[in-house]
Amino acid sequence: MVGWLTAEGIIAAEPTDCVLGAESGYAPGPHYTAAVDGPSEWLLELRANGVGVSASRNVFAPLQGEVAPVVCPHCGQVVELEDAATAQLGAQWKPFRDAIKAWLAGGADEVACPACGQVAGSMTGAGSATGRSRSALWGLPSGTGRS
Ligand SMILES: [Zn+2]
Repeated sequence: MVGWLTAEGIIAAEPTDCVLGAESGYAPGPHYTAAVDGPSEWLLELRANGVGVSASRNVFAPLQGEVAPVVCPHCGQVVELEDAATAQLGAQWKPFRDAIKAWLAGGADEVACPACGQVAGSMTGAGSATGRSRSALWGLPSGTGRS
């Protein structure tokens, strides 16, 4: 991946200390605009403007904002992960938290639906550790109009 991005000129060839939260990363290359919607007036001026590359399992979580409910891909059951009264993650979050922990440890990230009992993966797009193809993933409710 890094080789391809370097060859395309999207990132610089040599890693530098241009990223936050990692030892090093790759600064924008001469053709970085091929990878973005439009060129930035200030990107090249920033000290931290690079791309970090992670080859291990990581969870990237937003630091703020509410947690959206998820929908069972089998029966359509909507599962609220956040307790509406307290705005804290509720009991329904626990199986997802456990699945993420298991996935970080190299296992599968599957969560059984509380309504139908069928299992679905908790990470959209994440490959299954068991090697079989992933056909069912917990999704987001359609038409919730959250902004
Ligand atoms: Zn279900």
